[in-house]
Amino acid sequence: MSPETLLEPTLVDPTPNLNPNQPFDRDSFNSYVMNTYGRFPIAIAKGLGCLLWDTSGKQYLDFVAGIATCTLGHAHPALIEVVSQQIQKLHHVSNLYYIPEQGELAKWIVDHSCADKVFFCNSGAEANEAAIKLVRKYAHTVLDFLEQPVILTAHASFHGRTLATITATGQPKYQKDFEPLMPGFAYIPYNDIEAVENAIADLDEGNRRVAAIMLEPLQGEGGVRPGDIEYFQRLRQICDENNILLVFDEVQVGVGRTGKLWGYENLGVEPDIFTSAKGLAGGIPIGAMMCRKFCDVFEPGSHASTFGGNPFACASALTVLQTIERDHLLENVQQRGEQLRSRLRVIASQYPHLFVDVRGWGLINGMEINSESELVSSTIVNAALAEGLLIAPAGPKVLRFVPPLIVSETEVDEAMDKLEAAIAKVV
Ligand SMILES: *Cc1c(COP(=O)(O)O)cnc(C)c1O
Repeated sequence: MSPETLLEPTLVDPTPNLNPNQPFDRDSFNSYVMNTYGRFPIAIAKGLGCLLWDTSGKQYLDFVAGIATCTLGHAHPALIEVVSQQIQKLHHVSNLYYIPEQGELAKWIVDHSCADKVFFCNSGAEANEAAIKLVRKYAHTVLDFLEQPVILTAHASFHGRTLATITATGQPKYQKDFEPLMPGFAYIPYNDIEAVENAIADLDEGNRRVAAIMLEPLQGEGGVRPGDIEYFQRLRQICDENNILLVFDEVQVGVGRTGKLWGYENLGVEPDIFTSAKGLAGGIPIGAMMCRKFCDVFEPGSHASTFGGNPFACASALTVLQTIERDHLLENVQQRGEQLRSRLRVIASQYPHLFVDVRGWGLINGMEINSESELVSSTIVNAALAEGLLIAPAGPKVLRFVPPLIVSETEVDEAMDKLEAAIAKVV
């Protein structure tokens, strides 16, 4: 089946099921839900493929995909099928027992990656927490009983919102007012090999030294910045020479988003540990930490999660991964990515004073706004929304384009037409 045929709205009524007597009440929402998000002013009622409808019936092309999460778009027949079947059979039992679906998903991931074993949880932050705990236990038990292991992370990185992962996140705006942060982290500029060498030397003192380096293969939230191949290859050597674990946060770039199954395949290096979450089950909550060496550092009791790896989430993830393979979605991601970037470059070249860069891999792409201009990404995001296109900011100066991996050629063209119209209105 081609991605095109998957989008045929034969199984699902594409029009939102609206009750005109009860329009969405934003004030009521805000009086009950904690105010932790700067939301755009629409409420989404329904989705199909790469299309969404808000509660007023307005249609949007979805180039956000739940922030790089709805791998197969909305209401995909394969996901509908697995979710409906699994909820009738078994959805949760806890890890007190063997869960066959969890074993099958782990096997698929191990067969299709450099990993030897998998630990399951429910989100990206949790997957990174698991990686941080594994690194620390490795340091305490394998690395000569190192008492003060340090994990190096990058400026402009993003690793989640728990206390350990905001500490790992090299952006002060996420850490402010939540001090004291976790000890055991230090920061380096991304794509700068000299900085890594200096940090390793500077931090080596007494019972303290660098035990791991944790990076995104392409920085997502921090502005869609791809890793540099030479940097990462040298980094791999440095880690090997110094018994340092190389940890990749693939929460945003894993599961086909870059046109390869895993982000690290774009860099020609294999990590010792990597994490996945967002796109793994196509929007059903799941997280996973994969490890290649030292998996047995974790023993019964070392780490756990009540929901982690339940049959519902694991069956959904396995279906997402098998659908990527069966429908040759990686080829679609590569082709649509090329198409998207070439249209973005044309648009950027029409406003050379406003846009300074177009970059990305596969279907994670960014367009950077000139830092000297007054224009910020949210202005264009709002204008695009008015035109019927959803895109997301990646910081104040970068527009991010992360559509479902099933996006069609026509939809990419339509999205770019809408973006052009939106930009023309705000400049
Ligand atoms: C989104 C994201 C996270 C956090 O994932 P949650 O599921 O929100 O906890 C971590 N790392 C990266 C690279 C992300 O993009």
